[in-house]
Amino acid sequence: MVLRKTLEGQTCLVTGASRGIGRGIATELANVDADVVVNYRSSEAEAHEVVDEIEDMGQRAMAAQCDVSEYEEVEAMIEDVHDAMGNIDVLVNNAGMNIDKVFKQLTPEDWQRVLDVNLTGTFNCTHCCYDDIVEAEDGRLINISSVVGQQGNYGQANYATTKSGLFGFTRTIALEMAQSGSTANCVAPGFVKTDMLDGVPDRVREQILERVPLDRFAEVEDVSGIVRFVASPESSYMTGQILAVNGGMEW
Ligand code: NAP
Repeated sequence: MVLRKTLEGQTCLVTGASRGIGRGIATELANVDADVVVNYRSSEAEAHEVVDEIEDMGQRAMAAQCDVSEYEEVEAMIEDVHDAMGNIDVLVNNAGMNIDKVFKQLTPEDWQRVLDVNLTGTFNCTHCCYDDIVEAEDGRLINISSVVGQQGNYGQANYATTKSGLFGFTRTIALEMAQSGSTANCVAPGFVKTDMLDGVPDRVREQILERVPLDRFAEVEDVSGIVRFVASPESSYMTGQILAVNGGMEW
């Protein structure tokens, strides 16, 4: 059997694709001939830049605004995508946020907002794209978790909970969609050079780096290349797995 190496003819929705890891994933998938939906919440100009970049590569692309934590907004976005691009073959649940505080200072609102975006947002997008992915028969659900979901992390009880939660979610969806041939997997990056890492104080960044055997933070490309592999037909026999991309950190 000779496997198709490109994503030609596939439509991929990447949530939170206006910046950081999501942006890198969106352009990486376009680089292997996918058409890409660039979801964003507030960074409109940046999302349109990503769309322009993908169109310059010769692929179809659209910007799609919505807050993934709001089910009705996600539903409306998917309807727009269906009208413009047809069914979605690959969903990358990448949109995420953090509100870091030691547990005693964490408010119920801090707890809830991070759960709403990182976990409920993943539920919302997966629920609205589920039939498309199953119908694709070699469709892909790819959830972006974190090493923090595997290890926990000081000051990130809410964030760590959401990123661990994605493991059980992914594994269950993988089992439920397995009959169709479509797959669900998690990619769990270590610490990646994006705006999210910029928010971490220098002293804490140094402590983190001491725990990374490869002795560097990840570039966005370290993660997007793995997502491209998971999205490709080459990963067809892998489902329900967690791919750790963390420079060798223990967990
Ligand atoms: P980032 O630079 O802060 O970018 C976050 C992206 O998510 C932006 O495009 C943002 O859109 C979007 N977003 C946030 N809330 C949203 C919402 N409610 N609805 C729709 N979009 C929303 O983050 P990043 O570092 O690239 O992280 C991307 C993913 O990787 C996250 O799930 C994060 O947890 C995970 N991760 C990151 C690291 C790291 O070290 N950076 C490590 C492990 C895992 P707008 O700009 O339009 O608001």
